[in-house]
Amino acid sequence: MAGKWSMLHVTVRDALTKTVMPARIHIKRADGACFLPTAETERRFDAGHVPQVILPEHFRHSLHLCRQGDIRSMHLSTGEATFPVPAERLTLWVARGHEHRAVRRTFAAKPDGAVHVDVALDRVEHLRKSGWHSGDMHVHFTRTTVADDYILAYLLAAEDLPAVNNMVYKEAGKVEAPQRKMGHAGTHYQLHHDHQIVAGGEEFRDNDLYGHMISAGISKVIEPISVGWQLGRREDYPLFSQVCDWTHDQGGIAGWAHGGIVRMHESLPVEAALRKLDFVESIQFNWFTGFYFWYRLLNCGLRLAVTGGSDFPFGADVLAPWYPNLGLDRTYVNLGAGKAFTYDAYMNGIRRGRTFASNGPLLLLTVNGKGPGAAVRLDGGVRDVKVFARAVCQHPLDRMEVVVNGAVEHVVDGRGGQREIVCETRLRLRESSWVAARVRGHVTPGAYGGVAPWNLHAHTSPVYVHRGGRPILQRADATAMADYVRLIREVYRRGGTFKNERQRRALSANLAKAEAFYERLLKR
Ligand SMILES: [Zn+2]
Repeated sequence: MAGKWSMLHVTVRDALTKTVMPARIHIKRADGACFLPTAETERRFDAGHVPQVILPEHFRHSLHLCRQGDIRSMHLSTGEATFPVPAERLTLWVARGHEHRAVRRTFAAKPDGAVHVDVALDRVEHLRKSGWHSGDMHVHFTRTTVADDYILAYLLAAEDLPAVNNMVYKEAGKVEAPQRKMGHAGTHYQLHHDHQIVAGGEEFRDNDLYGHMISAGISKVIEPISVGWQLGRREDYPLFSQVCDWTHDQGGIAGWAHGGIVRMHESLPVEAALRKLDFVESIQFNWFTGFYFWYRLLNCGLRLAVTGGSDFPFGADVLAPWYPNLGLDRTYVNLGAGKAFTYDAYMNGIRRGRTFASNGPLLLLTVNGKGPGAAVRLDGGVRDVKVFARAVCQHPLDRMEVVVNGAVEHVVDGRGGQREIVCETRLRLRESSWVAARVRGHVTPGAYGGVAPWNLHAHTSPVYVHRGGRPILQRADATAMADYVRLIREVYRRGGTFKNERQRRALSANLAKAEAFYERLLKR
């Protein structure tokens, strides 16, 4: 590259503690183009050695099918770095997960000079202090060597992301994103650096019939990883209900990926009716997808946690090539204040529905003083509940909504781009209900240095309120799910590939049980 150069020294600190801390940065040149230093030739990553700046070249080999993807990120491994930059007017952006406020600095880099930029990031919130821990429940980062673990752990530290469910998958019969270790029962993880948990998991997929599901916290890969011709090069068997059982047998948790909407005719309502699922991934790729299936399943009286997961490195540039989505979509789990953060505790929190999912806003909810996942029993003639919800975000929020059985029952608008919305209200419940909070916002590309509008979404798992011990039921949704099961039965009958009658009968039995479950609700 022609032109003059200057030396940039950048330091990122926590504004309160003054501690230097890892972060993600990007630099824009005077013409608005993204600047990346050339990758250091040093590729060694271990406990004692790591480059100051982690560039995509350092981990491109871990991105499997996305190797050619347009990722142009810079992650500071310690929070301090020195490297040459073009001598011109530059803009530096610094971000670190959702709990620190990202900042922008513009400065002039003089030819043959040195420029020092010291950045202090304010905390929006310190959720760990109140027992909330975040993780990205959907990541595919190839780990074949110890060095790969270190690279990922440093990326997590820079994104202030304590945990990832890092999943092997299969494409056209070939294993992708292999995990060199899956962990062992009772541990399920590896700790590195500043206590980042990298847990091996698996996305079990079928693009021909069933869809995609997530197995987290397993100690052994569940074969055959994919079924159906497109991904597994085999029949549509074993069934996802069996995969859920094998996941639970290993002490793990099972959930549905992508809200059940990436393929047509996914079998999510079947496994949900068979009570095989712990969660439904509903925030990903700048979308909230929960109203397709999750709301309806909750309206059938099922208890399912909401989760968020990025699918990194798929869709890595959904906001900008230098703003990779690793940890953009997260699952926050309430372990209880002062409780030790372990992967088992984190998974257990998801199992119990003590979650909110988010791609930015931090969202807390209580109903009669109880948080997501809890059950509240109203006896006698009591019909009112006290709802408290609070959302905070480094970006402006548009609206907070309290959702009751899928319908918005209370709204608080964020006037004038406020970064905190509090809602305290009393709701009269007509019947047994699930109550959750959700919040929305939008960030223009210019406001965060990206290229796409960032649609902020956060959603809590429900608090389940039972009046007089009666179950939660919206009959229209039970009808819809029963009809849906009958529809996919016909689709699966025509399009499914099976080796023998036994496999076909096992699927039919599952579909019959699911249909009976929804039909039974309608006979109440
Ligand atoms: Zn998937």
